Amino acid sequence: MNYKLPELNFSYDALEPYFDKKTMIIHHTKHHQTYINNANSILKSINNFNLSNKSIEYILFNLNKIDDLEQRQLLRNNLGGHFNHSFFWKGLSLGTNISSDFKKVLEKNFGSFSEFKQKFHSIALSRFGSGWVWLIMDNYNEKKLSIVSTANQDNPIMKKDVSSVTPGIPIIGLDVWEHSYYLKYQNNRSHYIEAFWNVINWNEAIRRFEL
Ligand code: MN
Repeated sequence: MNYKLPELNFSYDALEPYFDKKTMIIHHTKHHQTYINNANSILKSINNFNLSNKSIEYILFNLNKIDDLEQRQLLRNNLGGHFNHSFFWKGLSLGTNISSDFKKVLEKNFGSFSEFKQKFHSIALSRFGSGWVWLIMDNYNEKKLSIVSTANQDNPIMKKDVSSVTPGIPIIGLDVWEHSYYLKYQNNRSHYIEAFWNVINWNEAIRRFEL
C-alpha cells in the first residue's frame, strides 16, 4: 500500500481571493504530502492487522485493531490527515450552487439555511486548537444531518471510542487548523469560515448526501 498525493481539480489560484494561492500550495504540497509520507511509513511497520487491499475508510473505522498504541496513534493522525485533506479538496470549487432540494434538507434539519450556516460557523469557531468541522449524516435511514467537530486529524468515520465524536457519513468538511488560513487571515478564523461559503463545492456535498 502506498498512498499518493491526489491532484486538485483546479489550479492553486482558482479559489482566490477567498483561499489564497500560497496557502493552497503549501497546504497541498507540504502539509498533505507529509501526512501521506508518514502514513505510508507507519503502514509498512504494522504487522498484527492485515491491511492489504483494505479501503482507507475500512482502516480508519478499524484503528482499534492495531495493538500497538503508538502505531495506532500515528496512523490515526496521519492516515486521518490524508483522508481529511483528500475529502477537503474535493469539497472545494468556485461557482457551484446549492440545489433547492438540498436546501430543503438543510432547512428541515436546522430550521433554516441561515441557521445551518450559523451553527456550522459557531462550531468551527469554537473548536479549540486544531481540528475540523463536519456536516455528517448520522442516521442513514432518516437521512438525519448533524454538525460536529473533531480534534486534530480525527474524523466522523473513526469509531467513537477512538475519535470521541458521533460517527457518521461526512458530507461537508472544513479544516480549521491554523495552517489552512493563517497566511491570509492570521488569527481571524471567523473570516476564513465566512470565505468558505464562497468556495464550497455544493455539487460534491449533494453527491455525498445522495450516495
Ligand atoms: Mn490542513
